[in-house]
Amino acid sequence: MKTSIIGFPRVGSLRELKFGTEKFFRNEIDRNELEKIAKELRIKNLKLEKESGLDFIPSNDFSFYDLTLDAAVLINIIPKRYKDLGLDDLQEYFAMAKGYQGENGDVKALAMKKWFNTNYHYMVPEIDDETEVKLVGTKVFDEFKEAKNEDILSKPVLIGPYTLLKKLRYVGDKKANDFSDDFIAVYKEIIERLNKLGAEWIQFDEPEIVYDLTDGDKNLFNKLYSEILKSKNNSKILIQTYFGDVRDIYLNLLELDFDAIGLDFIEGLKTKDLIDEYGFKEDKILFAGLINGKNIWRNNYKKTLETIEFLKNKNINFVLNTSCSLLHVPYTLKNESKLDNKYLEHFSFAEEKLVELKDLKELSENNYETDKKYIENQKLFNNRPDSYDKDVNNRVNNIKEEDYIRKPDFETREKIQREKFKLPLFPTTTIGSFPQTKEVRKNRSDFKNNLISEEEYIAFNKEKIKECIREQEEIGIDVLVHGEFERNDMVEYFGERLNGFLFTEKAWVQSYGTRCVKPPIIWGDVFRKNQMTVFWSKYAKSLTNKEVKGMLTGPVTILNWSFPREDIEIKEQTLQIALAIRDEVLDLEKNGINIIQVDEAALREKLPLRKSDWFKEYLAWAIPAFRLVHSGVKEDTQIHTHMCYSEFTDIIKAIDDMDADVISFEASRSDLQILDSLKENNFKTQVGPGVYDIHSPRIPSKEELVNQIKRILEKVSPEKLWINPDCGLKTRGNKEVRESLKNLLNATREVRDENNRNI
Ligand code: GLN
Ligand code: ZN
Repeated sequence: MKTSIIGFPRVGSLRELKFGTEKFFRNEIDRNELEKIAKELRIKNLKLEKESGLDFIPSNDFSFYDLTLDAAVLINIIPKRYKDLGLDDLQEYFAMAKGYQGENGDVKALAMKKWFNTNYHYMVPEIDDETEVKLVGTKVFDEFKEAKNEDILSKPVLIGPYTLLKKLRYVGDKKANDFSDDFIAVYKEIIERLNKLGAEWIQFDEPEIVYDLTDGDKNLFNKLYSEILKSKNNSKILIQTYFGDVRDIYLNLLELDFDAIGLDFIEGLKTKDLIDEYGFKEDKILFAGLINGKNIWRNNYKKTLETIEFLKNKNINFVLNTSCSLLHVPYTLKNESKLDNKYLEHFSFAEEKLVELKDLKELSENNYETDKKYIENQKLFNNRPDSYDKDVNNRVNNIKEEDYIRKPDFETREKIQREKFKLPLFPTTTIGSFPQTKEVRKNRSDFKNNLISEEEYIAFNKEKIKECIREQEEIGIDVLVHGEFERNDMVEYFGERLNGFLFTEKAWVQSYGTRCVKPPIIWGDVFRKNQMTVFWSKYAKSLTNKEVKGMLTGPVTILNWSFPREDIEIKEQTLQIALAIRDEVLDLEKNGINIIQVDEAALREKLPLRKSDWFKEYLAWAIPAFRLVHSGVKEDTQIHTHMCYSEFTDIIKAIDDMDADVISFEASRSDLQILDSLKENNFKTQVGPGVYDIHSPRIPSKEELVNQIKRILEKVSPEKLWINPDCGLKTRGNKEVRESLKNLLNATREVRDENNRNI
């Protein structure tokens, strides 16, 4: 039996790539130095993979920003506005990834979207009628050669033509089908060149085929591959899928001339059934994704070996694989020095998954039941210290239907709240966090490392809150925030204060570009021990006559941005968290906080990829879990929520069903498509579609914002509209935030005046 992985994390075990890239952005290092850092990281991964005995070692799984963008750039899918900047190729690439504002011009970044059901975000490449699809890049070849220099005949990986065509944004009249011939030609050329370089195996990632597929989709897929595969010569082609099963296209895959098919046995609920029912092909190899690439728990060897037996009994020629790229898990447990081994022994990060692959390979070839490795592994699954709490379980079991329903109804509350808050037309607010400057982070880390006392820590934060409130008042914002200076991260902060969570030191996972997150691990039953945010919100409120929004993270987001348990249901874990956040909501209210925002930035994240599963597998409990958080507040307490990315057109009813009073969301990057759907669906909740993109340092001008607001007003009725940036400001600098918010206020005032005149 051989082993393989789909891809390895690329930012470095200590985020070396992130820091290098950021230095490059600040002009502290030049391109050569950045490329040197990147190369070292790639070589390190290759060596590690080789040493751990991995049979199929991937190359081209590295990226300076994002693999989808890399694939687009490789074949010249680069919008003219970036080419016109006249930058070198790397600068041009970063301009697409994060926008450019400087001597050569002023261009926004490409749109960024969530990658399937993960917390990774990809750049959405853009293609227009003039785009000439042709091979212009060399990255995939360079990285193959680089591995070869290390004596590694790697398996180059590349986003496949179907997935890439589906992920593009089409700005002209031409659509995916119109580009299929060009794609066929260019992918053929890529295969031929890799073949010439000596590639034995080439992996095309086609996760897109785990979605529900139409006949048109299947035709496109078949057309692409029946042609492309003609050029494979003596290279072998692996089509790699992940994040689900391929039930709509399995038989097609068997018929096409692929040498290997990679299937996901973890998230692919039907993968095993498909094989059982339709068999596999003798002349093909199955890359069996049996090790979870998305979660951090040790693999259960018993279960995996059973599936291996199943495949052996069917005489299937297979390779043991991970379920998806290891991009979605942290690097290594080696950097974790603080967690007790009674917990650590239950985890497996990317490096440890390589060991698991090796273990399983050995076990499967021997009589494993008496093997020490096997026995040790099985012990873990009968031994979970500190994870059960009787009271939490009782509380969850006693939730009643009415606990999910807030009273009175939305319309009644809306009237009452209008009377109470007397906010102007188009109330302005922000999403919560203010810049996390060096000093802010230092204050937190100094306190954590016992370098300053608690008094000093608190005094500093109070000072920051004071500044923040003063600043917002000066600018003229209507509903203020305290700035979230006490928070490292919107999930970690709560996780640290709740029972049931464990924290790592260095277990970073890339979220997008240079942004990494360190998801907590849900270890045991969750409950709130003490108040978590009341102290800061109450202090902020004491400084002003305006309303200050309390700021919490919602249960679905806390769950989705953590590594969930695998021993109890996701739904149950979410309800436990919901009850804990509910306790905090009620405490904030009791302490005079009249507006409370419960962020559900990641609500969509675990939405099943297949529409038919959306409701029953997810929304049916995720939306009620959110309502459980706020159903206990008074009629005149205003509940806000916030979601990142406006990709909820298709679940818009569910969003309205969250029954919040106000929702803010990202809209500036996706051209406000969401607004049509709000209108069509008579969306009742008041809305704050973000009027500018905070993921980029550019400062939006007043004129630009006026235009944006007016465009929004074509779709949203004035009395429902809030004006705000599209997300929290924590990643930005003070100066740009001040300028941007001033412009935002001036723009709002201008549109307000016009509207008031018109009434
Ligand atoms: N309140 C959070 C903040 O402003 C929301 C962050 C988010 O949506 N990702 O930082
Ligand atoms: Zn956001």
